[in-house]
Amino acid sequence: MKLIIASNNEHKLREIKAILNGFFDEILSLGEAGITHETVEDGSTFLENALKKAREIAQLSGCCALADDSGLCVDALGGAPGIYSARFSGVHGDDKANNRLLLEKMQGVEDRRAHFACAIALVRPDGSCVTAEGAFHGLITREERGSNGFGYDPLLYLPEYGCTSAELPPEEKNRISHRAKALHALVEKLREEGSEGAAYARQI
Ligand code: IMP
Repeated sequence: MKLIIASNNEHKLREIKAILNGFFDEILSLGEAGITHETVEDGSTFLENALKKAREIAQLSGCCALADDSGLCVDALGGAPGIYSARFSGVHGDDKANNRLLLEKMQGVEDRRAHFACAIALVRPDGSCVTAEGAFHGLITREERGSNGFGYDPLLYLPEYGCTSAELPPEEKNRISHRAKALHALVEKLREEGSEGAAYARQI
């Protein structure tokens, strides 16, 4: 069985391929599968967006498709930026402007609690699906710290590690991140289902 990952993000692809390897004969990115389709992410939750992306790619390709959606949720901002994380400041993917705006909104705010959230959906050609979610908790700093990672990583301080997400070595962050947690939860569900490759996946 072939799996198409609804992304062309190299970082995500590597992480997802490493964890789901044993479950599929072949794992391809959208680009590798020759798919240029772009899903309109108009869901109201991470899970709705992930499911919509995976459903569209499964329908288009006739293969299994996996999609994720993630972002930063800040308690004192009622969960914002949430599903709008990538375009918080108005320009999609402008990490610097997004971080600046977040620090502005958090000026004078005592409750700094926040978490990265990730939802993952796997949809099969018959329309059946398996979903999982993961979170990565921390506190919003008062200034950027660290140069690893991307997005809001320099602004999420992780008390357990004594540093921000951008100060963690990338391998370490990938091991404990919201995306890794969601992927491992998905693997657990596939194992419980006795899905293809489960015997192999049990060894990893
Ligand atoms: P997407 O799920 O790749 O579309 O990510 C949406 C946005 O959430 C990104 O553009 C980042 O701003 C933010 N985000 C998601 N995951 C992370 C992370 O691991 N570190 C920092 N920012 C993240």
